[in-house]
Amino acid sequence: MNHSFDIVIVGAGPAGLAAACAAAESGRRVAVVDDTPWLGGQIWRGQQARPSIPQAQKWIERFRRSGATLLDRTSVIASPKKGLLLAEHPDGPREIHWQHLILATGARELFLPFPGWTLPGVTGPGGLQALVKNGWPVSGQRVVVAGSGPLLLAVPGGLKKHGAKIISIAEQAPWSRVANFGLGLLAHPGKLLQGAGIKLRLPGVPYRCGVWPVKAEGDSQVRSVTLTDGRRTWTNDCDVLACGFGLVPNVELPLALGCELLDGFVWVDTWQATSEQHVYCAGEPTGIGGADCALVEGRIAGYAASGQLDRAQGLLGQRASWHRFRASLAKAFALREELKSLAADDTLVCRCEDVTFERMKPFNGWRDAKLQSRCGMGPCQGRVCGAAARVLLGWQPESVRPPIFPASVGTLVGMGTGTASK
Ligand SMILES: Cc1cc2nc3c(=O)[nH]c(=O)nc-3n(C[C@H](O)[C@H](O)[C@H](O)COP(=O)(O)OP(=O)(O)OC[C@H]3O[C@@H](n4cnc5c(N)ncnc54)[C@H](O)[C@@H]3O)c2cc1C
Repeated sequence: MNHSFDIVIVGAGPAGLAAACAAAESGRRVAVVDDTPWLGGQIWRGQQARPSIPQAQKWIERFRRSGATLLDRTSVIASPKKGLLLAEHPDGPREIHWQHLILATGARELFLPFPGWTLPGVTGPGGLQALVKNGWPVSGQRVVVAGSGPLLLAVPGGLKKHGAKIISIAEQAPWSRVANFGLGLLAHPGKLLQGAGIKLRLPGVPYRCGVWPVKAEGDSQVRSVTLTDGRRTWTNDCDVLACGFGLVPNVELPLALGCELLDGFVWVDTWQATSEQHVYCAGEPTGIGGADCALVEGRIAGYAASGQLDRAQGLLGQRASWHRFRASLAKAFALREELKSLAADDTLVCRCEDVTFERMKPFNGWRDAKLQSRCGMGPCQGRVCGAAARVLLGWQPESVRPPIFPASVGTLVGMGTGTASK
């Protein structure tokens, strides 16, 4: 099936929704493509069906009135030539033609390997939240939350509401940096109130800074986690360990389109334009700054792509403020050196292809390791181990080859693009 639009946006999270509204309200033919069946991306997952967050409702309703088309359950897998995206839908392949493209592909959790991290019951906090929102029974389960970043505070409240018993929260960043970050929130009172509210909903749950997991143990599932503050270690019994070390941007599609990166994020100019002509980027692929930052970047990209630079101009001050918040987030939750040595020689780094840390260490970079050990060649296509290898071994991501997501042979052959033979 063929689609053709003036402006195509990949990603229906806050950045994509805001971009779609800004562009479509000017009368352009706009489509938003998302691989999920819902509007709202990661943070507003479930809001379409069961509204509870006013900000999410506001944007979902505005999107519905905007005249933009939603192509849901549609996963963009390749871009064989300028102006064309190839996508997979449960009913078959899609070709999507664009004149201007806005990439709002979001981020995913960063997992760092440590002994026991592949045990059943060890998951990311965001992943656990998604499972629970989709009905996974967490009632009565003892949950330890560990790793780094605001998700460690954002997720446990929801788990508790579903009956989980939160044992402790272990944040790897030192208390001094987290406290400074908290003070900086005075510039964003909404965020400060949100943070305080979250903590109040978790009475009696210890939130320890400067603490990180060193191993998880169990049998058919995780039974305990050993934590350290660098001086002493202790063990918490648990049924679930929700452990993630922040977020990493989804830059595979921007890379496949030839967009330049800067420090691992998509480089953009004042108007959110990338290094590729007529291609814009907004939200987490340009930096991890949260939903409000994604919204304002999305609006700027939508206005710029539809030629409304005067309207985009009016938002630059707001964006600068959220970029200061983004920078303080990165500084506060920067990962400590000790995390690089958590993996033992026999710890799996690539869990899809069973490649251990010892097997990966001798290689010079991602390409060598991939060719000789098969790391990154499994179903996740290096989305988990590639990001881990960047932290552990300093390996930079290399070129991306299509399809960027596993795709059916039927899709590849049916499109007759030659992608299937690569
Ligand atoms: C698992 C997880 C849980 C989170 N939970 C919270 C939370 O509880 N509270 C909070 O404040 N923040 C949370 N965040 C952070 C929050 O999601 C972001 O700050 C914010 O939503 C960023 O918005 P965005 O529009 O940039 O990206 P996202 O909201 O991530 O939206 C990106 C969208 O693009 C889609 N997409 C990506 N690639 C493709 C492709 N190739 N084809 C089609 N579609 C594609 C994705 O499915 C997704 O729907 C979470 C993040 C993650 C990863």
